[in-house]
Amino acid sequence: MYQVPRGTRDFTPNEMKKRRYVEENMKKTFISFGYNEIQTPTFENLELFTVKSGDSIIGEIYDFSDKGGRKLALRPELTAPVIRFYVEKLQMEPKPLKLFYFGNCFRYDRPQKGRYREFQQAGCEMIGADTPESYAELIALTYNILENVGLKNITLNIGNLNIINSMFSKIKISGEVKKELLPLIDKSQFEEVYTILCKENVSEKNASMFIEILQTPDINKISDFIKEDASAIEELSNLKKILHHLKNSFKISNYQIKMSIVRGLDYYKGLVFEIDAPVLGAEKQLCGGGAYELISLFGGRDTPTAGFAIGFDRTILALETEQFVFPVPKTDVYIIPVNEETIGKSIELAQQLRKEGVITEVDLLRRGVGKSLKHANSKNSEKAIIIGPKELEKDSVTFRDMKTGNQQLIKIAKILSYFKSS
Ligand code: AMP
Repeated sequence: MYQVPRGTRDFTPNEMKKRRYVEENMKKTFISFGYNEIQTPTFENLELFTVKSGDSIIGEIYDFSDKGGRKLALRPELTAPVIRFYVEKLQMEPKPLKLFYFGNCFRYDRPQKGRYREFQQAGCEMIGADTPESYAELIALTYNILENVGLKNITLNIGNLNIINSMFSKIKISGEVKKELLPLIDKSQFEEVYTILCKENVSEKNASMFIEILQTPDINKISDFIKEDASAIEELSNLKKILHHLKNSFKISNYQIKMSIVRGLDYYKGLVFEIDAPVLGAEKQLCGGGAYELISLFGGRDTPTAGFAIGFDRTILALETEQFVFPVPKTDVYIIPVNEETIGKSIELAQQLRKEGVITEVDLLRRGVGKSLKHANSKNSEKAIIIGPKELEKDSVTFRDMKTGNQQLIKIAKILSYFKSS
């Protein structure tokens, strides 16, 4: 027996129905904010992903050489591909350029619930805007997407890498030590952070303050800690404006300031944010995003960029955990020819109904009315049409309501108007 490769999944019709439902719903919200969809290839030149992060990232991605000896990688994320695309072909587009995408990503992760080797992201990039209102809109977009798909319990955390960098400068920590600390901060392992800071001769008072500021939602406290750094203070004042728009105009007040958000990818700068679904437990992060710099690295004219990526699979998991009622696959009408004579007419009627957008199936197995009705039930069919030669002589068919079992003889011409009006 063959099995799917480790960390990958097959999706049943039921699961696909859920996924398409969520995708369509997310698309609507992206479009309502003026975003347009794009697509990039599933694999890229490996260098696209190593140029910023270095070769260490190769351990986490699927890389390979093709028959021409080119070094390629299955994309682990979509921001770098989209910016590559932008620099190659879209630089002249009017700004801000708002692009969204759905795409499968591949990471050599250790598989577990909510963590796969092939997974789907829904994301966007906003190119050419860095005003507080543009950032507020970006955050509101993610939040609205997750709200509109039906999630009830999500938490939004907002941080800023320029401010955290200023906090590091204040306690005179940089270079390798900072690199060592960032992942610990991201995982909220503050005791380890404290130990390292003390080892690096940061005073106990400053180390404690640093850790307190990482966790405080109080902007005034943060401001006090970095008050000597004018550019960080300006960043904080912009952050306040973003929060003001979120709360007062987008009506989103369910957020937390959290300076300990660091984000895994190396190219973020300034604003960062994450949305979690606490119902998911360990793998609860649904979305990550923020402002980043990649364009100049890829040879383009420097322009502000920001975006986010939503873990599509985790969104579905969170909805399932919240017992969201998804639409299930269904057939509107199941047509049963009583004998061979009426097969042609059954197909004709099915084609007419399909043109009207009615999901229509015709029995293909000639298994008799009783068994066909059973099958229609298993396909969640709402109506059945039974076509026999006697009824056909009167241009009529038997129309059955599958829920009640009620049947009536009805003219074929009326069937079409019935579905048009319902
Ligand atoms: P990242 O590009 O790492 O910021 O990831 C963005 C989002 O993608 C995360 O918040 C997760 O929801 C989702 N994600 C990341 N890695 C995986 C994975 N291996 N399996 C499933 N979802 C993932």
